[in-house]
Amino acid sequence: MLLKDKVALITGGAGLNGLGFATAKMMAAQGARVVLLDLERADPAGAAAQLGPQHLGVVADVTDKASCERAAAEVLARLGRIDILFNNAGITQPRKTLDITGADYDAVLDVSLRGMLYMSQAVIPAMREQKSGSIINTSSVSAQRGGGILGGPHYSAAKAGMLGLGRAMAREFGIDGIRVNAVTPGLIATDINKGLIPEDRMKGILEQIPLNRIGEPADVAGCVVFLASDLAKYLTGVTLDVNGGMLI
Ligand code: NAD
Repeated sequence: MLLKDKVALITGGAGLNGLGFATAKMMAAQGARVVLLDLERADPAGAAAQLGPQHLGVVADVTDKASCERAAAEVLARLGRIDILFNNAGITQPRKTLDITGADYDAVLDVSLRGMLYMSQAVIPAMREQKSGSIINTSSVSAQRGGGILGGPHYSAAKAGMLGLGRAMAREFGIDGIRVNAVTPGLIATDINKGLIPEDRMKGILEQIPLNRIGEPADVAGCVVFLASDLAKYLTGVTLDVNGGMLI
């Protein structure tokens, strides 16, 4: 098993159709104890119960530093360590540049980019003490192509920021045995984009994807499990483009 006895904390992990929960299932199958961190309305405890009794659900808001610190402290108190942090919480807003308000901008950047910083700050001291850790960040193909169908330009900015912040962290914490990598999913069938793609646009979208299909959450989960595991132990600061070939 690739993740035997590892403790994995997944933000935005409680949506049963999402990338976080698909990754949680795969990590659990590889021997990890998984902590699903999410907003109260997403019911992280209920989602964790579906994985099995050794897994935990924690309510936290990644935009709130104190909430992130409380969540990390709870996990350390209950499970003793944190080996893997999957910064996966995110929100989208379909907007055009001229329509983005300050509040829109804050909301989108706060969840993806500020959340990544606060959660990383909350777990890195423990990883440093362990002299090992793997942090994986969910960016997006929107960071690389700009805009996109669903996210909005501020979403592209937030997700591009995650790549820069992640590379800087990879440089800073390599000496402590902490690896920091990213995935940039293409279009994946989850709740975040459900109903947002009109049928008549689907053909055009598929023409841009050489593998000729929308991705499944498990397509991303497999890459995250790889990055989290010792198979990737000499990888840091890399980005895996999980997009069916969209950027070729
Ligand atoms: P999702 O909506 O199922 O997952 C997002 C999760 O984040 C939800 O469970 C939500 O409750 C949680 N969340 C939102 N705000 C939060 C906060 N303040 N604190 C804690 N949790 C919070 O959608 P998904 O597609 O699984 O998205 C997962 C990640 O993948 C997101 O970062 C998204 O931007 C990214 N992504 C998705 C796609 C796609 O096509 N689905 C493509 C590229 C990137």
